[in-house]
Amino acid sequence: MSKVILGKTGIISDKNGFGALPMQRVSEEQAGVLLKKAYDNGITFFDTARAYSDSEKKIGLHLSDVRHNITITTKTAAKTADDFWKDLHTSLATLTTDYIDVYQFHTPPFCPKPGDESGLYDAMLEAKRQGKIRFIGITNHSIFVAEEAVLSGLYDTLQFPFSYLSTERERTLVRLCKDKNVGFIGMKALCGGLITNSAAAYAYLNQSDFDNVLPIWGIQRENELGEFLGYRQNPPTLTKDLLNVIEKDKAELAGNFCRGCGYCMPTCPAKIQINNCARMIQLIRRSPSAQWLTPDFQRVMQNIANCTECGICRTKCPYDIDTPTLLKENLEDYNAILSGKTVI
Ligand code: SF4
Ligand code: SF4
Repeated sequence: MSKVILGKTGIISDKNGFGALPMQRVSEEQAGVLLKKAYDNGITFFDTARAYSDSEKKIGLHLSDVRHNITITTKTAAKTADDFWKDLHTSLATLTTDYIDVYQFHTPPFCPKPGDESGLYDAMLEAKRQGKIRFIGITNHSIFVAEEAVLSGLYDTLQFPFSYLSTERERTLVRLCKDKNVGFIGMKALCGGLITNSAAAYAYLNQSDFDNVLPIWGIQRENELGEFLGYRQNPPTLTKDLLNVIEKDKAELAGNFCRGCGYCMPTCPAKIQINNCARMIQLIRRSPSAQWLTPDFQRVMQNIANCTECGICRTKCPYDIDTPTLLKENLEDYNAILSGKTVI
């Protein structure tokens, strides 16, 4: 089973981190089953965020008795130092702990630095001085902010999307982290659900080139947890079959495709569900299609017609996607599927 050293933090983890975002979608009881089963089977790295509703609370509830055996990373999306302290104190209370191992800025649109106007980085330093956090991290979807953070020397860890669909520039970012001894926490290794072969995803990240990458798997169900626990014991390797899966996915998802991150959504004046609608055809083709063709989802899709082409979403997309065009294309293809002109 593979281990990862998380850069200059020196934290050693099994190459299976637990991404606890989905804990907000399950009951307290089910969260307990999943978190305890993960811990009992050797997973010791748990990543959450203040923004994931009660995910922190569930970790505190079910893992506080083993707190000193695990690594907890959480995040603040605070924009001011005052809010930073409010978030930190809330996280410590809900996680029922007196320290956070890695406290991360949650996808800020810029790279916080000491002495800047926001006061955020100075607050981080003070929190570290007080022993409330051990290490300073940043998460991002923008390659520009990520590169700046790594090169700044100010961060112990970077959390960034990484999968076999990543670009060469993103692979270079992973190597840069290794050179600079910045821990790399890989999110979205299944690319928000577009990668459906978890063995291929795992085998790709388990290559020696990416031995500094600690993937966190967003786990919501016991069968998903079982898959990754199985890979701990018997790690899949890049067989010819899995390489074929990867090549096929790369061909199908080449170019600009929506990763479903949702960063463009809150400001859409037409309230379009962009994170699903802009990749609807891929979701239909790559997962059980019926769930996307319900009357409810048909209404969600038809709302694309209300797009005013204001372009706000385009400016928010970290992948430079021409979102309004992609939405229109998806609506046309969706309607063709509904009318039977296109067969899935
Ligand atoms: S261009 Fe359309 S989808 Fe994008 S923010 Fe404006 S109304 Fe919403
Ligand atoms: S269009 Fe861009 S910002 Fe919006 S959900 Fe897709 S990838 Fe994310």
